[in-house]
Amino acid sequence: MPPSHATEPCVIVWFRHDLRLADNPAFICAAQTQKRILPLYILDEDATGTRPSGAASRWWLHASLEQLNKRLDGALCYGKGQAMAVIDSLVESLNVSGVYWTDIYHPSVLARDATIKAHLHSKGIDARSFNGSLLRPPQTILKEDGTPYKVFTSFYRTAYQGVRSWQKPQDAPQGAFYRHTLVDLLALGLRDDRRWSVELDSLWVAGEDEGERLLRAFVARGLRGYEQGRDGLAGDDVSRLSSYLCLGALSPHRVVAAVMASDCGQTHKEAFFRQLVWREFAAYTLYHVPSMPHRSLQPAYERVSWRDDARALQRWQQGQTGYPLVDAGMRQLWQTGYMHGRARMVVGSFLVKNLLLDWRDGEAWFWDTLVDADLASNSFNWQWVAGCGRDAVPYFRIFNPVLQGRKFDADGRYVRCYVPELARLDSRYLHAPWEAPQEALAAAGVALGRTYPLPMVEWASSRKRALQAYKDAVKG
Ligand SMILES: Cc1cc2nc3c(=O)[nH]c(=O)nc-3n(C[C@H](O)[C@H](O)[C@H](O)COP(=O)(O)OP(=O)(O)OC[C@H]3O[C@@H](n4cnc5c(N)ncnc54)[C@H](O)[C@@H]3O)c2cc1C
Repeated sequence: MPPSHATEPCVIVWFRHDLRLADNPAFICAAQTQKRILPLYILDEDATGTRPSGAASRWWLHASLEQLNKRLDGALCYGKGQAMAVIDSLVESLNVSGVYWTDIYHPSVLARDATIKAHLHSKGIDARSFNGSLLRPPQTILKEDGTPYKVFTSFYRTAYQGVRSWQKPQDAPQGAFYRHTLVDLLALGLRDDRRWSVELDSLWVAGEDEGERLLRAFVARGLRGYEQGRDGLAGDDVSRLSSYLCLGALSPHRVVAAVMASDCGQTHKEAFFRQLVWREFAAYTLYHVPSMPHRSLQPAYERVSWRDDARALQRWQQGQTGYPLVDAGMRQLWQTGYMHGRARMVVGSFLVKNLLLDWRDGEAWFWDTLVDADLASNSFNWQWVAGCGRDAVPYFRIFNPVLQGRKFDADGRYVRCYVPELARLDSRYLHAPWEAPQEALAAAGVALGRTYPLPMVEWASSRKRALQAYKDAVKG
């Protein structure tokens, strides 16, 4: 490719949470102009409404940008700082005729983007944004009275169920690239060299190609057992697509098209589709209630008297609670940057109800350690677990980690994998080792309180304490 010249016209594709070329309307629009495309990523950590990414997300973003850059033949231009300033400097120094991007549905991000759009229009530049991250943009779905939905089933029934022809995903178009350098990827400072990052390198492959491979593998196998199998903690039947959806390596339309085209039976397809719509409902709720990451959606629950106990929080974070399923989940998270969805509910319930610690503490830890950390899905689900969110689990429903373990990890594969000090314990006692006779513990090499902790709280009495605290809050 010949070197680019500042006078040569080009269009910018501003990549954000859409790190892919296929089914990316902004990229497709740029390709249709027939001009050279300058692919741009800006790390704008001070933008209102966004929150600086956590450590695992930063690592994942670095890896995902690296992969996108490969797809772009090394042409991805990295910028750092205020988006408006970076774009403006490019517009001032190059011959830019268009700037295209994918919307992020947070009101303050949309407001910032609208200012940028107006500024570009005032300079005679074509500036357009597209929906590429959700099946349906949140502003298009309202109740008859013009207010947003608060109940998932009505939201689902009205806007998603029975829709048989979702937008057909489009292949990646051909495009010639415009090369321009601002800073290099390392200068974004997303990756550190802690052992954790290096371990994550061995577990994950970022990017569009890998997302597509996982999608195909899931449709060929996991989807066939999804309806009943998705709760199995060993994770054989779940897709593990969340990390690819969260930075847009895969488009939701692409996922739906692949799932719906499969011959594996309507029940499984619909069960999976419903999960994807939970993702939409979380994004929708954040769009309509931008305070969701830090305020209970049901105001009464702001009055819960959370305990302040840094040591208890730390034991939960480190997977040292003495409840094997909770510990397995928390250690899976720390070791791999991912946690099975059912385990997320169990560890969340344990933190909020049994330890009576603020859901925001849990949300913050997940934010820092999840590779798929997503502002909407994370805070929405934490509020769901805490009982203070939209269509949330009632506050008096408190997950019992022993029963959950026996049901969804019956053969103990999950706990044995992440809590190896219990690996040799008989399955009958694995989820409640304190019930095991001394001989069974000794035979498995387990000394409770020494090789594995005793339960840090008693389940029944901590449950009672939570019920009282919640009742008091609701009473006012
Ligand atoms: C406390 C808590 C925090 C969570 N934080 C996040 C988060 O930060 N980011 C995130 O993507 N998901 C989050 N989830 C939702 C869910 O647990 C994960 O999306 C799912 O487990 C990811 O694994 P998977 O891709 O194999 O799921 P699958 O079962 O294969 O589901 C397919 C897709 O559906 C979507 N999905 C499934 N369940 C949910 C749900 N409850 N809410 C929203 N979308 C869903 C995801 O995009 C997922 O990739 C959280 C759940 C809980 C209980």
